Amino acid sequence: MKKKIFFGVLSTSVITGIGASILTAAAIFLNISEKWQDIAVKIIDSLFLIIIAIVIFSAVAGLMATKRIIKPIRKINLDHPEPKKNYKELAPILEKLNSRNGMVNRQKAELVSRREQFSLLTESMNEGMIIADPKTSILTCNSEVSKLLCVKPPKNGDSIFTLSREENFRRCIQDAMGGRRAECLLKTEQGDRRVIASPASINGAVNGIVVFIFDVTEEQALEKMRREFTSNVSHELKTPLTTIYGVADMLANGMVKEADVAAFGGNIRREADRLITLINDIVALSKLDENSLPRSDEEIDLYELAAEIVGRLENCAAEKNITGTVFGDHVIMVGNRTVFDEVIYNLCDNAIKYGNIGGKYEVKLSHIPKRAILTVSDNGIGIPEEHIERIFERFYRVDKSRSRKIKGTGLGLSIVKHGVMYHGGTIRAVSTNEGTSFIAEFPLRENLSKT
Ligand code: ADP
Repeated sequence: MKKKIFFGVLSTSVITGIGASILTAAAIFLNISEKWQDIAVKIIDSLFLIIIAIVIFSAVAGLMATKRIIKPIRKINLDHPEPKKNYKELAPILEKLNSRNGMVNRQKAELVSRREQFSLLTESMNEGMIIADPKTSILTCNSEVSKLLCVKPPKNGDSIFTLSREENFRRCIQDAMGGRRAECLLKTEQGDRRVIASPASINGAVNGIVVFIFDVTEEQALEKMRREFTSNVSHELKTPLTTIYGVADMLANGMVKEADVAAFGGNIRREADRLITLINDIVALSKLDENSLPRSDEEIDLYELAAEIVGRLENCAAEKNITGTVFGDHVIMVGNRTVFDEVIYNLCDNAIKYGNIGGKYEVKLSHIPKRAILTVSDNGIGIPEEHIERIFERFYRVDKSRSRKIKGTGLGLSIVKHGVMYHGGTIRAVSTNEGTSFIAEFPLRENLSKT
């Protein structure tokens, strides 16, 4: 503005000066008398001064007026313009601005709320989720990603390849970037992870990828257990069957003396017995595993059940001159009688099998607030400390050569553990070389105990 005024004054002065020069030249040219020439020059001088004064005055006045006009316009808050408080000429523009502002604000709020909703959803996931652009830069990812992959939380814009250096991860991402859904398994310090990467394509062009990361540690452990179980079962079935086949073959070919037939027959029966026990154990375990047992709300007095089982095993115990006793409270549990029977039977059977000649075992039932405790203790051979952790695993036997002499499948304690868990309980073993105690704890419903 100041520049404009300066140039205005300058151009007016130049124009006036040129005008005065033209007039003087005209006077000389028209040959008028010197007196009149002087008068003309004076008039022109005064006129010149007046014009300059007018120009300066109008410039200052213009400047002030412009300032006054512009001041309220400058004060307009463009975020919240008030059309009625301003020049009415500006009202239509300000109203339009107002409605545009409203629209922008609504869209902004919607965008923020969607983003919040999205991050709330992704943050509440147990899986890791990453969205990356076609250049493999991370656009967004949830906090599970860093936890599952045991890395520092990545920043948006980081390359997805910073999350793992494993070759199969790189290949999986590259496959997805190439438009193919891919998955791989990663081993981390904290377990196994499955990575699934899917391309996000628009009109056939890959515009990015979506990657999910799952914790599959338990799944992998179960898978390993299933594989081991199958191979163990095959092995355990094969051994007695091979013996049965061999003995039967000899009998069939007349290779056995008449006098030995009974002994060979006994061998077949013993191995068949082993097979039946094994199959029964497998069936019991798989029923517990699949949770396929019918839910039963039967009330069972564990004291009475234990007394009955100790009675059932009396002959077996008598062979080793072992005595079994039951004492404590009449603990009443609600659940499945067959399962409780298997739990107590297997524990008592083991107490006898691994008990010393002339030894004893006890079944004790007691209450602590809201819990029932079943303890089966013996003064038998004990379990070395390093094996305690593993005795509940399927087919685990402490000392294979020692156990071979003692009948067993290695499934008894697995059945016990699953049976206890089936009723919401826990079990642990405590052992010294003077004997072993198995302590099972069950949650107890109120009003279900009589002493
Ligand atoms: P098994 O059919 O071999 O008895 P279990 O699963 O019942 O299988 O037991 C697993 C192993 O734990 C046994 O082989 C044995 O070595 C050990 N064990 C179980 N109970 C006792 C016990 N009361 N005293 C000593 N060792 C035991």
